[in-house]
Amino acid sequence: MGNGAIETIQAVIHNFVKSKILINLPTFSSYYEFAKNRIEVIYNKLDKNDKFQLDIEQFIQLIKKEKPDTIVLINPNNPTGSYIKLTDIKYILAECQEVENIIIDESFIHFSFEDDTYTFKSAAELVKYYNNLIIIKSVSKDFGIAGIRGGYALMNQNKVKFLLKNGYLWNISGLAEYFFNLYAKETFYQEYEKIRVKFIKDTQDFFANLSKIKQIKVYPSLANFALVELIDGSKCSDFCYKLLIKYGVYTRTCTDKTGLDGEFVRIAARSESENQIIIDSIQDMFLY
Ligand SMILES: *Cc1c(COP(=O)(O)O)cnc(C)c1O
Repeated sequence: MGNGAIETIQAVIHNFVKSKILINLPTFSSYYEFAKNRIEVIYNKLDKNDKFQLDIEQFIQLIKKEKPDTIVLINPNNPTGSYIKLTDIKYILAECQEVENIIIDESFIHFSFEDDTYTFKSAAELVKYYNNLIIIKSVSKDFGIAGIRGGYALMNQNKVKFLLKNGYLWNISGLAEYFFNLYAKETFYQEYEKIRVKFIKDTQDFFANLSKIKQIKVYPSLANFALVELIDGSKCSDFCYKLLIKYGVYTRTCTDKTGLDGEFVRIAARSESENQIIIDSIQDMFLY
């Protein structure tokens, strides 16, 4: 358990990465920020022409060539929302057994699905079979509780023992512990499941409606946000300021994200009625 998933990321990067880490771009910046100085960081840039989808074969070839001791996959990825199917994750794991640490960050996995049952396909169980697999999971986004600072990582027992020996004790609050007791309850999970599936349907409807606005391009996402490219020549910071000041809608510029060529913003889904307000605001803004 960590004081937010961020603490588990820090623990894993600082304790298990030896000399070389492979990270896809664009990414959640903590992965390379914690790696700075001591560790060589290799980037694999995802292509917007491929809708930021990971090319599995090319990725495996890159691993064989560069021989990193650690690789990071964020699934679905932040900030692109792009998703890697569980069969492809299994294939990567099978092909990369010589890699010492395979980190899979599933902080947005609850928003993903592979068929019309909307079940999410976590790789968490595979920790039992792959000693090199490390699953990272935040509960900040799917449960909307970033403030209580709760997250966890799943990994081989020896790695857990090593971390506990090296100071990760008394790091979570009573409030986070209270939440995780709920999280483990079957009844809580059943209630959550109903809301989760409804939220996914609303979110995918929202993305489809956003896509109809001709000044923007919405990249396919299985997270609760979509990466949006402005294709009418406007600047992403202008877009975000106007939406916030004039309409009270907060979206995130991606100017600080490495590996994005163009004007990009990240727009998160909210409730059905709030999503409509976001759509109406963007449409209205483009009129003036
Ligand atoms: C937000 C986020 C985290 C960190 O979440 P915590 O709030 O520290 O639990 C980790 N990974 C990804 C991909 C995230 O987006």
